[in-house]
Amino acid sequence: MSVIVLVENNGGTIKPKGFEAVQYAAQLAQKMGTTATAVVLGTIAETEMQALGQYGAKRVLHIADERLNNLHARAYTRALVNAAEKENASVVVTLYDLTGRVVAPRVATQLKAGIIAGALSLPDLDKGFVIKKSVFSGKAFGYVNIISNNKVIMLAANTLQVKKGEGAAAVEKLDVAFEAKDFAIVVKEVNKVTGEIPLADAELVVSGGRGLKGPENWGVIEDLARELGAATACSRPVSDADWRPHHEHVGQTGGTIRPNLYIAAGISGAIQHLAGVSGSKTIVVINTDPEAPFFKAANYGVVGDAMQVLPRLTEAVKKFKE
Ligand code: FAD
Repeated sequence: MSVIVLVENNGGTIKPKGFEAVQYAAQLAQKMGTTATAVVLGTIAETEMQALGQYGAKRVLHIADERLNNLHARAYTRALVNAAEKENASVVVTLYDLTGRVVAPRVATQLKAGIIAGALSLPDLDKGFVIKKSVFSGKAFGYVNIISNNKVIMLAANTLQVKKGEGAAAVEKLDVAFEAKDFAIVVKEVNKVTGEIPLADAELVVSGGRGLKGPENWGVIEDLARELGAATACSRPVSDADWRPHHEHVGQTGGTIRPNLYIAAGISGAIQHLAGVSGSKTIVVINTDPEAPFFKAANYGVVGDAMQVLPRLTEAVKKFKE
């Protein structure tokens, strides 16, 4: 009985959020009296995989087939199921991101496992296998007991404080007999739909709402985002009005994000907006109205005009970087 964790290979490097998944799996394995093995797919250097030992992985199973460089739901599922069988794993951990959402439910079906989407804690093993998750669009927490023998956990980002330690994981090749149908969907081209930094993976996000008055004013959001190396996001009315593309819309009916920093300018903080961003580690709110509800959810608040505050923040970031 062991724990395996899918760690995403982002064009030859480990996706940073993968470190948290490895640490989570390692801590869970320790609680269960076993070890965690990372599973890495596609073309990647051995040193990248060995470094997962610094986050608690004892071993890495590398399935090197280059067709796995792009996400293929069936192939990824077969790879993880094979790895789980090889390791006699009863728990499979993935992130609660695009890949996790596509792959984890399929793996759970094949392993006849119970699954939790968006885990916010390690399991409480004294009570069974009880994991915290947010419910009703972030308005409450639920505690879910997975009672099946096999379990699949999709971990919400920023659940743990990631700490880098010492050690190198032992890397082992795993050959998997894929079938042609595993790659039936052919990826011909990958187009980025957001700016330079994809919103779903962003550690830093600068977001604008109706308070910015119109698309012609979005330069202040983009300038700050560029200086910070952040992605841009927006509230729903902004994308409904076509000021910004729909994939930038966050909230109950848009994307759910959990960045380290979420800067919200000219956004009132309606419950439907908070549903998509309240898991952010640090929230900074800029609003002219001191009574705006968003201030209650903020770690830092600036009462002021976004058109003046944002350029000053951008200048401050520039100076800081000099
Ligand atoms: P407003 O509510 O108009 O707020 C603008 C804010 O800007 C105000 O607080 C104002 O004080 C401030 N402001 C004005 N001028 C300035 C300035 N110069 N500088 C700084 N601040 C300024 N919304 C989402 O965002 N995401 C969702 O997924 C979503 N899903 C929904 C689902 C349903 C079923 C429903 C009913 C609603 C949903 N909404 C969603 C809409 C949500 O209820 C709010 O209407 C919306 O979030 C408000 O957007 P806003 O804060 O940009 O605009």
